[in-house]
Amino acid sequence: MSSGAPGYRRRLASSHRSRSASPAAAQLITAAAVGPRSVGPRSVGLRSVGLRSVGPRSVGLRSVGLRAAWLAMLLALCLPATAAAPAGPTRNLILVTIDGLRWQEVFTGADPQLLGDPAQGAAAADADARFRAADADDRRRRLLPFLWTVVARHGQLHGNAAAGNRIKARNAYGVSYPGYNEILTGRADDARITSNAPIANPNRSFLADLNRLPGFQGAVAAFASWERFTWILDEQHSGLPINAGLREARGASLSWRERRLNQLTRSLPHPWAPSRQDALTHGYAMAYLQRKQPRVLYVAYGDADEHAHQGQYHEYLAAARRADDFLRELWQWTQSRAGYRGNTALMVATDHGRGSGSAWRDHGRTIAGSHDAWLAIMGPDTPALGEQLTPATHYLEQIASTAMALLGFDSWRDAASWQPIDSALARNTPP
Ligand SMILES: [Zn+2]
Repeated sequence: MSSGAPGYRRRLASSHRSRSASPAAAQLITAAAVGPRSVGPRSVGLRSVGLRSVGPRSVGLRSVGLRAAWLAMLLALCLPATAAAPAGPTRNLILVTIDGLRWQEVFTGADPQLLGDPAQGAAAADADARFRAADADDRRRRLLPFLWTVVARHGQLHGNAAAGNRIKARNAYGVSYPGYNEILTGRADDARITSNAPIANPNRSFLADLNRLPGFQGAVAAFASWERFTWILDEQHSGLPINAGLREARGASLSWRERRLNQLTRSLPHPWAPSRQDALTHGYAMAYLQRKQPRVLYVAYGDADEHAHQGQYHEYLAAARRADDFLRELWQWTQSRAGYRGNTALMVATDHGRGSGSAWRDHGRTIAGSHDAWLAIMGPDTPALGEQLTPATHYLEQIASTAMALLGFDSWRDAASWQPIDSALARNTPP
């Protein structure tokens, strides 16, 4: 498909909000939803009134009725009658991937067998003290406290394979580039994306598509520890701002934090060069979020996979725990900002699974478990269903269209690529 915007359609408010809004309220919502999407991130202080009042779990519509009515009147005066009527509170999206973090650790915490003997050394003793517990629920809360308190309570966790609830990689290879291609472009491509080789991705990501659409132009950015993301996201042709590997922040208006991170990038050792450690990636992403306030931010962490390949289970766990802290910081930032609070969705996934038992450190086509992934979603359009324990199978390639659906689109690219995960969208969940 050529560039431009064919194939995109914003869904109508009336079809989206039927569950939580009366016809009269739906009119207000339609009007309220039009405005905020057509303006920049910081330009309308009233946005939160309309948007927060229509979330799937909200009951505050009546209490803000007067303000909403006033807002609707204001918007009726200043908006063209032909403006599209996108719906839903979700205005911003943060997509995070944690490379190679197994569903086993996500849903059952540290593996007591792999934790081994705390007498093996300081790292083992530290991991043992932090992550060991008799009960799997305890262990997963110790390892990933943000996922198992905030997201489990307010969002959804898919991929507990022990319960038959699966998020699978559709691609044949069970390695990173095919996994990220699937996540970001909405379709596995087993003919062309067969390994991690640095080739320009012939498939366009939903991030690149968004970045060309009105309202999203210049408001999409990607940060990654793995340098290969410049290929995966086809930096050369996509026009997407990508900061990956050992790249420093550039530009005339860098913050103190970004200049400091640039210094650290130059002075720190980089054990996985030309990739970098997640603390730098996260720092750059946070600094960019604060300074540029993008609507769509993608952050790709990589430490867990690097440690796993080296067989360092304790370090792998510590990396997972740090990623959980990063998620918390990203989320707390959005919930403390008027342009983001109540209208931001968070999606977190991994690109592949790994083997089990002594094969835990590896993954790939021939290693069982490499196609088992997981997915966490939280946001104003996603029902708070918590951990999903009913048998179901979804695929990494559904993440892109789920993201587009959350952002208010009801089609993307072509019918075959449009396969959002229904339960993640309030409009598709039975009352
Ligand atoms: Zn790997």
